Amino acid sequence: MIYTRFYTPVTLISPISPDGRVRVLMSYGDGLEREYHISDLKADDGLNEIQAASDALANHLCRDCGQPMETIEQPQRQAPPLKVVTCKNKACALWSVTLSTDQYAKLTEGEWQEYRESVARLKKTLGYKS
Ligand SMILES: [Zn+2]
Repeated sequence: MIYTRFYTPVTLISPISPDGRVRVLMSYGDGLEREYHISDLKADDGLNEIQAASDALANHLCRDCGQPMETIEQPQRQAPPLKVVTCKNKACALWSVTLSTDQYAKLTEGEWQEYRESVARLKKTLGYKS
């Protein structure tokens, strides 16, 4: 678990920038975002834990199975390409879920659970095990 200096749990939603800053989602307030310097954050496992969370975001690792996800840049009119990620691991509870990297970083645990349930239904429909 990663915290502010006031012990408010936070979730990293961006990798650590070259100048040591990260965007985080606060555990209170719906979708409240803040930016911190990593020296203003604490973690149960210290800086290693913050670095690991940053690496997972930078390398687009699946939050459930930890494997690299397929990353595609979707061209958009009037905007920079949208980066979307998909877990292609059929054994994973989040298999086939495709989200922009921004959405991916911001979903709540309840929303993830809804995705897991819909993936489970899809797998059942397709006749996959687990
Ligand atoms: Zn996965």
